[in-house]
Amino acid sequence: MNKLLADNVQDVNEKIQQVCMKSNRNPEEIKVIAVTKYVDLEITKKILDLGLLHIGENRSEQGSAKYEAIGDKAIWHFIGNLQTRKVKEIIGKFEYIHSLDRLSLAMEIDKRAKQQNIKVKCFVQVNVSGEESKSGVKPEDLTQFIKTIAEYDSIEVMGLMTMAPHYEESELTRPIFRRLKELLNIINESKILNYQIKELSMGMSNDYEVAIEEGATFVRLGSVLFEN
Ligand SMILES: *Cc1c(COP(=O)(O)O)cnc(C)c1O
Repeated sequence: MNKLLADNVQDVNEKIQQVCMKSNRNPEEIKVIAVTKYVDLEITKKILDLGLLHIGENRSEQGSAKYEAIGDKAIWHFIGNLQTRKVKEIIGKFEYIHSLDRLSLAMEIDKRAKQQNIKVKCFVQVNVSGEESKSGVKPEDLTQFIKTIAEYDSIEVMGLMTMAPHYEESELTRPIFRRLKELLNIINESKILNYQIKELSMGMSNDYEVAIEEGATFVRLGSVLFEN
C-alpha cells in the first residue's frame, strides 16, 4: 500500500509537470488537495509524509477527528456540501471552505469566525454546468452574491470553485472550467471586492489535467491517489 501510494503521488506530480509545460504554466501555482474522505487516519498521515500538505474532507465529523489527530501539520480544506448547523464544528480547524453557496451559510461562517476572531478563506461554489444534482450559485447570480458576502468581513473570498459533470471523455469538461475562469475575471473587473481574487478550485481525478490547462490553482484529488 505504502509503495503504491508513493507511486500514485509521483504519477500525479509528473502529470502536473507535463501539463504545465504544455500549457505554459508554473507548476508552483498548482496546489494538490489530497481528498482523504475515502481513507483512514493512518493513510492520511502517510500522504502528509509523501509531501502533500493540503488535505480535503467533506464530512465534518470525520474531518474534525482527523484534525484532532494531525492538527496544524496539514492545511485543512472543507470541500463538500456544508450544512449550516455543522459550521461551528469546523471553524478554527478548516482554514479553507470550498463550498460557500448560499447566504445563510455565509452568515453562519462569518458569525462563528468572529467569535474566534479569525478569518476564513472561502471559495464560492458555482454551478456552471447547471446540473440539478449539483449545488452552487448560478452564474447569473454570482455578482450579486459576492456583492452581498463582501459585507461579511470575517470571510475572505479566495476565488471560485466548481465541479464538472462526470464525463468518460475529460475533454468535454473544458468549457465548464473555461467559464469559471471567465467568471473570475468578471468579478475582478467589476471591482465589487476591494481586492482581486485569484484562486480557481477545479479539477478532480478524472479531469484535473484539463482543469490545469484552463487555469486551476487548486485541484482536488481523491481516487487517483488512493485507488490501487
Ligand atoms: C470526493 C471529492 C473530490 C475528489 O474526487 P475524485 O474524483 O475521487 O478525485 C473532489 N471534490 C469534491 C467536492 C469531492 O466531494
